Amino acid sequence: MGKDTKREGSHTYSILAGKDKRCFVSGRREGLNKHHIYHGTGLRKISDRYGFWCYLWEPLHLAGLGGLHAHPNSGLDLQLKQMCQRKFEETHSREEFMAIIGKNYLIEEEADVQRQSCGESGFYLIDTSDVIDEGWEEE
Ligand SMILES: [Zn+2]
Repeated sequence: MGKDTKREGSHTYSILAGKDKRCFVSGRREGLNKHHIYHGTGLRKISDRYGFWCYLWEPLHLAGLGGLHAHPNSGLDLQLKQMCQRKFEETHSREEFMAIIGKNYLIEEEADVQRQSCGESGFYLIDTSDVIDEGWEEE
């Protein structure tokens, strides 16, 4: 009914960067790829629909160049997922996010903080074997 003043994301409007065509991390304007923040089966389309994407400089993006797709669900890939969820939740509920993406990335962040502050040994060997087989896409 009332005019919606929220900026809704779309495939041409990133909820993180709007229409700004620059690498979201480095600010570069050339050699850019469009990165779908939630990638994998079915999620790319959803990321486009809701504006869950950003531009990344190719070496920060492509697995073959050591970009974030080489390390799914850790480092920059995870940071973007958390940042994007946080941004979405400024205007939507967590339930809405969960209904769309099917996963809450911020719980893991909170758990990480807890592990860090409660850990006795002070460091962990992180087992990444469960994410290595996960599919990634070039975009
Ligand atoms: Zn990507």
